[in-house]
Amino acid sequence: MNSRRFRLSIFRIGWAVLAAGISCGWFITANARSQSAAVVSNEHLIHDAHFHITNYIQEGTDIRDFLKIMGTRVGRAVLFGLPLQQEWSYENSGDFAPTYYLQTDAPLYYYSFTDAYIAMAYRSLSKEQQGRFDPMITGFNPADMYAADHVRRVLETFPGVFSGIGEFTIHKEFVSAKIAGGPASLQNRALSRLLDFAGEVGLVVLIHSDVDVPFAKFGSEPVYLAQMKALLKRHPKTTIIWAHLGLGRVVRPVKDQAAIVDGILKDPDFNHVYFDISWDEVAKYLGAAPDSTRLMAETINRYPARFLFGTDEVAPDSQEKYLRIYELYRPLWSLLDKETSERVRKGNYERIFDEGRRRARAWETGHVRKPRD
Ligand SMILES: [Zn+2]
Repeated sequence: MNSRRFRLSIFRIGWAVLAAGISCGWFITANARSQSAAVVSNEHLIHDAHFHITNYIQEGTDIRDFLKIMGTRVGRAVLFGLPLQQEWSYENSGDFAPTYYLQTDAPLYYYSFTDAYIAMAYRSLSKEQQGRFDPMITGFNPADMYAADHVRRVLETFPGVFSGIGEFTIHKEFVSAKIAGGPASLQNRALSRLLDFAGEVGLVVLIHSDVDVPFAKFGSEPVYLAQMKALLKRHPKTTIIWAHLGLGRVVRPVKDQAAIVDGILKDPDFNHVYFDISWDEVAKYLGAAPDSTRLMAETINRYPARFLFGTDEVAPDSQEKYLRIYELYRPLWSLLDKETSERVRKGNYERIFDEGRRRARAWETGHVRKPRD
């Protein structure tokens, strides 16, 4: 079922509110790296903390074309593909080649080659161009105790490249259950091992986990909230960005989520936790309800250091398409204090990802042997 038909069918069963809403080389020293990252913020509108350069069948935008799309409006961006590959099962869809997870019943599987692809694309750039990107490791199964070992191996194989891990997914409507080998869990020791390792290295973590199940009953506690809070609390030394404000394609109203986000931010046990406001579906939902926009703006103004802008665009082919979500957020931008807006659009990205780069390079210096000449 494609996403449009999907939304229509929800309308038919009377979920009008939901239907309107959430649909989803070798060493370069830390010093040299941070100098090459010297992108002057004022020239740019935004940095992008959530961007997929490839899609569910590992195809996407050439990195040089993407630099042109960023142009002068976007300063920096994270760089990752999609770790899940949609299988084309002939038995299921015949000659129809699915490119999205809603287009077939065939499973998704972890495609680890994505990390090598991202590293090679990054390495093909000049130093100055590299300074605009923060590549992220995604090609691991977060339900596998060996996930942390994969991350270590990628850092050892491609030192000088990666700033973080993610976006990886634990709970996501219609995706989790399709993953070959079974769904991940917030309670799995494998995930804790992964987050411990990210904390040890200093890698920034970008995690997608829906706070609730699809079509949850209104007024009930989100099913995964307690598990997510417990997980976050177990890893105070790891910098974690919770993607999409914790929302998924089909979840409870944003209004309730604003209160949940606020509760997390006021608790010092979660000082290492940040939120990205990416995904055009989230932006549309916020924009459709002025009340939700105002509530979220109040929360962001109260905690200006804790939110990051991101697009969640997948393999865009034009700047117009790429910046659509920035435009959708105009009502939100107008409600933020000037300094808060600046921090959400750029400042927080620079602080968090510069630190991720610096710490990852320092870890590599101590752990990766230089090749012999
Ligand atoms: Zn996501």
